[in-house]
Amino acid sequence: EKCEERKTGKKLGDAYSEGRERLKAAGVPEPDLDAWYLLESVTGVSRALYYARPGQEMTESQSAAYESCIRKRCARIPLQHITGVQEFMGLEFRVSGDVLIPRQDTEVLVEEALKAAGSGAVPTENGTLRVLDLCTGSGCILLSFLYWLKKNGRSGGKMPVGGIGSDLSERALGVAKENAGKLKIPAEFVQGDLFENVRGSFGLILSNPPYIRTAELDSLQDEVRLYDPREALDGKEDGLYFYRRIVRECRPHLADGGYLMFEIGCDQAEDVADLMRKGGFLDIEVKKDLAGLDRVVFGRYS
Ligand code: GLN
Repeated sequence: EKCEERKTGKKLGDAYSEGRERLKAAGVPEPDLDAWYLLESVTGVSRALYYARPGQEMTESQSAAYESCIRKRCARIPLQHITGVQEFMGLEFRVSGDVLIPRQDTEVLVEEALKAAGSGAVPTENGTLRVLDLCTGSGCILLSFLYWLKKNGRSGGKMPVGGIGSDLSERALGVAKENAGKLKIPAEFVQGDLFENVRGSFGLILSNPPYIRTAELDSLQDEVRLYDPREALDGKEDGLYFYRRIVRECRPHLADGGYLMFEIGCDQAEDVADLMRKGGFLDIEVKKDLAGLDRVVFGRYS
């Protein structure tokens, strides 16, 4: 006898429209998208699959899970904290309240890093490209860089690459390690205050450090203020605390001609470029995100 879970008689399409209406009534900004996203996360049925089999019914456990998701989203819990995942650079990352949810703007940093590495401009050590990601959080920057470098990189992606992610938070590193395992990307993670437990030198140092001014933390939108870890956002008094330290402390860890690449707040390009120039960096460039805001600053140490 086939053990099939009992069906509720509720069709996916009806569950979707009901969910959407409830999200809308609760003032959720994108009720249609979110209702679909939640439905897909509990049933595994994508929109395309749904249209291929429109009459599909939900099981009791799917229905209960969907109900709980809709309730949470109505209470304005961010989607990523409900589903536990966020897409970044085309890959699915596990997330939790212990890490900053990956932002699309941050993809610019990874793209610039891939460009530099792909052009052959990043110095290697005995033929190995070594990359360090400070304040790695979920690991999304480091892991997507390693993944796409391997897929599309020079030497047919066969060049040996070594990646290390560092973070102050042991719990964030737990999430990063889970992501490395899930995506099958070999990377090493070390707990510590920036370079504290980092050994060796790197051709490429990446970081999206906390950069919000402390006084501005309370005015962030609820989804960020209430759910992203404060320690992942707080750049201290002028927001530049971590840039200052990284520029000062990176020297023993950056190869000659090595790159330092930062994500920045959109009003910090000049200040961070200035810090880098004074710290001995050359060829400093600023890149914008999709919204046209300054988002990445990088330079080479000579
Ligand atoms: N971009 C994030 C935000 O605006 C901040 C990330 C950071 O501090 N590194 O919420």
